[in-house]
Amino acid sequence: LTPETAAALERKTKNARFVWDAYRRFVQMFASVVAGVAHEPFEQALSGAKEKAGVKDDTGLTADALKDLTSLEKRIYASEKGSAFPDDPRDQLRAAIEAVFASYWGKKAEDYRRIEKIASSLGTAVTVQAMVFGNTGDRSGTGVAFTRDPTTGEDRLYGEWLANAQGEDVVAGIRTPRPIAQLETALPEVFSSLQRVKETLERRFRDAQDIEFTWEDGKLYLLQTRTAKRGAVAAVRIAADLLRARTIDAKEAVSRVEPRQFQQLLARIFDVEAKAKAQKDGRVLASGLPASPGAASGPVVFNPEDAEAFAKTGKPAILVRRMTSPEDIAGMHAAAGLLTSVGGMTSHAAVVARGMGKCCIVGCALLRIDEAANCFQAGDRWVKKGERISIDGFTGEVILGDLPTQDSEVVEVVQGRRNPATSRVFGDVDTVLRAADSVRRLRVRANADTPEDARVARYLGAEGIGLVRTEHMFFAEDRILPMREMILADTVLARKVALAKLLPYQRADFAGMFKAMAGLPVTIRLLDPPLHEFLPETDAIQRAVASRIGMDLHELQERVKAHQELNPMLGHRGCRLGVSHPEIYEMQARAVIEAACEVSHQDIVVKPEIMVPFIGVAKELEILRKLIVDEAERVLAERGEKIAYSVGTMIEIPRAAITANQVARFADFFSFGTNDLTQMTFGISRDDAEKAFLPDYEAKGILPENPFAVLDRDGVGGLVEIAVERGRREKPGLKCGICGEHGGDPSSIAFCHKVGLDYVSCSPYRVPIARLAAARAALSS
Ligand code: PEP
Ligand code: MG
Repeated sequence: LTPETAAALERKTKNARFVWDAYRRFVQMFASVVAGVAHEPFEQALSGAKEKAGVKDDTGLTADALKDLTSLEKRIYASEKGSAFPDDPRDQLRAAIEAVFASYWGKKAEDYRRIEKIASSLGTAVTVQAMVFGNTGDRSGTGVAFTRDPTTGEDRLYGEWLANAQGEDVVAGIRTPRPIAQLETALPEVFSSLQRVKETLERRFRDAQDIEFTWEDGKLYLLQTRTAKRGAVAAVRIAADLLRARTIDAKEAVSRVEPRQFQQLLARIFDVEAKAKAQKDGRVLASGLPASPGAASGPVVFNPEDAEAFAKTGKPAILVRRMTSPEDIAGMHAAAGLLTSVGGMTSHAAVVARGMGKCCIVGCALLRIDEAANCFQAGDRWVKKGERISIDGFTGEVILGDLPTQDSEVVEVVQGRRNPATSRVFGDVDTVLRAADSVRRLRVRANADTPEDARVARYLGAEGIGLVRTEHMFFAEDRILPMREMILADTVLARKVALAKLLPYQRADFAGMFKAMAGLPVTIRLLDPPLHEFLPETDAIQRAVASRIGMDLHELQERVKAHQELNPMLGHRGCRLGVSHPEIYEMQARAVIEAACEVSHQDIVVKPEIMVPFIGVAKELEILRKLIVDEAERVLAERGEKIAYSVGTMIEIPRAAITANQVARFADFFSFGTNDLTQMTFGISRDDAEKAFLPDYEAKGILPENPFAVLDRDGVGGLVEIAVERGRREKPGLKCGICGEHGGDPSSIAFCHKVGLDYVSCSPYRVPIARLAAARAALSS
């Protein structure tokens, strides 16, 4: 615009107010965007003009007032810039084009390219086009909209507009824009054009769009369109809706949803505003590792008994502990959330919480927990039993006080508290997951130790159980005593007597798992942890155990001591227990096969897979396989039955991976225990590393990510590749899976796909994420 063209425009439109409104906008925009002049003096000039005219909105300014404003702005420009505002259209155009090219090298653009990994050498382009005006009067206007609701995904226009305005006004907040629904009544013809544009664009781009538009005297023009950013619920709904409408196919639907968004759909979340306020008020006490997503608020307790007591009164608590152990399981189950000060992403608390779908933060090193005194200290703040805190399992933040949370609809359905037919989100998740299933090659199983976990896993689409940790079954009140008796026995006979008491429990446990997974494979791992973990620690419990099993207290204490090891994770555990005490694995093998026989009598197909942990030397497996098969055959012969079962091994010691061709001779399958494999490949303790030095290693870029959460492709992954290759060289088609925590991590799943594993096995609530991640891995390979 120049004085000359402005005059011509005035003659042509007979709308002086519009012309000078456009001019004053142009001077201001040109000054800030092209000439880089600060915008404050221009805003002051506009406010001054409104004040002088006694009006609230810029639309109240008359043509003369706007003309004066334009002159004032030109003077501001000249004094700030040191040269006159250009009055030649060619100068204006050239400067504008140059400004666009120059912006390519601005900090904002460079940062963006770096983050999005876009090469700077690509360059940019400038489009010069005719202007349309939303400020010619009341039949003109401007707006921004999403073609679908970006929060819920609902298929309707969602956005805002302003009459008699230009695009900047909507986002700049000069006037309060009106919701798009009101456009339908105010200007029905514009609204119906917008509806048509929405359909055209969605047909063309096959996805929801984020658009900017202007109408001039009732005619709609589109200024810009791009793919709409969206929240998790909307992402799933839009993908599902477009798939159902056949606008996109299964592959495209899968690529539209991020596995991380699924995680959000499954977890409880904090009210966003309440959380932001808590942060602003300085209520964040500390932060730790976000081990299991979700949101929980509740009174603090420091032992599992209190957690159970609080749950009984209807006020589930946050269980705060230095670390958890299998003995705490009932309290963990009763708690609203878990918080530990030591331990990492594969610690007991983390693994169990993910299994339960419960919010959990681990390794929160800043907390000084005094379990005996029932309090913890964070900085200079003490928090006592019963005081309320909130924990965010997405970010690892520990927050003082309560925060309102929202339940996940999907979890309500899975836990049977809501009818799936009434949950839109659940239906959409299901649609996307079915699409994923049609695309993926990897099978997805779950790690589960109880029939209830198995049921949840199956409901979420698990195609079998990849890991039953049998040791988790020995901590219940009625079992721990015979377990301790078994461990403390000093003769084989005494041990067999104790094992005979455990057998019915194990058999019932396994039968429950087989029933829950009818027709699907169930991999049962034989006893793994060092036996010391099961033994009583405190004087009081030692006394009680001694009297119940009729052993002298002193004798018992001596035996407990004898079981202590300096390095228990590298000690007498896993298959080493089976080698020293064959009767333990014999009992377990018997329990598996007897349970299989029982369940198959109920016309349920059972597929037991017996798995030996911690193999390092092929000879170990040779011996134990024979032991297991002999016992299994004995059971079948006794009962005159025939049941197919397989015997395989975990690969979790580097030596087993390197010698996988030897190990494979005695294995029907491999399952990579990448928790231990990571621990031993790096020589980093999985229980201590995160609190000690891993954060420094991540901060200094020595490790890109926590290797216990995301599989280290080069090292640990290298061993997995070697083992798969060598194992299958010895035994073509050898079934290989993964059951370490990495089995539920999307990027690790992509690696598993690439190296040709047959399945991943993860916590039940991660099964949907794994199904989706497996499909996305198949698409990108
Ligand atoms: C593993 O080591 O990866 C594994 C699955 O076993 P656990 O975590 O029980 O040691
Ligand atoms: Mg292991």
